[in-house]
Amino acid sequence: MDMREAVKKAIHYGTIQSILQYYICPQECEAHCCKHGQIHIFEEEYRTFSQIDPEKAKRVQSEMPASPLYRIEPPCSFLKPHDRCGVYYQRPIVCGLYPFKVNTSGNSIGLQPCPVGFLIIREFALWMMGNVSKTGIPEEEKAKVITEWENTIESYAEELSGFHMKNTLKEIQIPFDELEMFAMYMSSKDLPKINAGVDLG
Ligand code: SF4
Ligand code: SF4
Repeated sequence: MDMREAVKKAIHYGTIQSILQYYICPQECEAHCCKHGQIHIFEEEYRTFSQIDPEKAKRVQSEMPASPLYRIEPPCSFLKPHDRCGVYYQRPIVCGLYPFKVNTSGNSIGLQPCPVGFLIIREFALWMMGNVSKTGIPEEEKAKVITEWENTIESYAEELSGFHMKNTLKEIQIPFDELEMFAMYMSSKDLPKINAGVDLG
């Protein structure tokens, strides 16, 4: 298995893609993540960029001498007019993942409340609330957990407001086991798959 495949497996990339296929970025967002994000890619991905277009790849720089990580100077030079990715089917893992973001815990994934990220956070919170309401825990405790999730939705809605002006966004951390169950729940809803470009590999 090559390095990219190993990374994808470790971060549950396929599961994340199976969630993202139900979401599409609003046009009004104007590819904010590609224009303003801090995007770090692997050396192998940088080499792919260099093969595709050496001139455009000049805007991708090594983080430090001998670092395996490279940084895309925003706005990404591979972004096409009308805010489409010019290397969609060869895009770096980090791009295929966003608004999910890798953390260092090894057992969870971050999710940022950009316009699409917030919709996923809200759906996840509603699913968690539904789950807790079905458990046999005392009603008082149930109400407390549900209120906590309602507050979570509210706090990420606040984070979303004016998100394009913020340098960093507070992100929710979702444990991988809950992510897997949430993905199963989403597929059980039989929703239309609106993001045809996701890479389910
Ligand atoms: S992933 Fe989020 S920030 Fe990026 S274009 Fe979509 S909605 Fe906008
Ligand atoms: S490679 Fe594509 S998805 Fe990634 S930042 Fe550039 S334009 Fe956006």
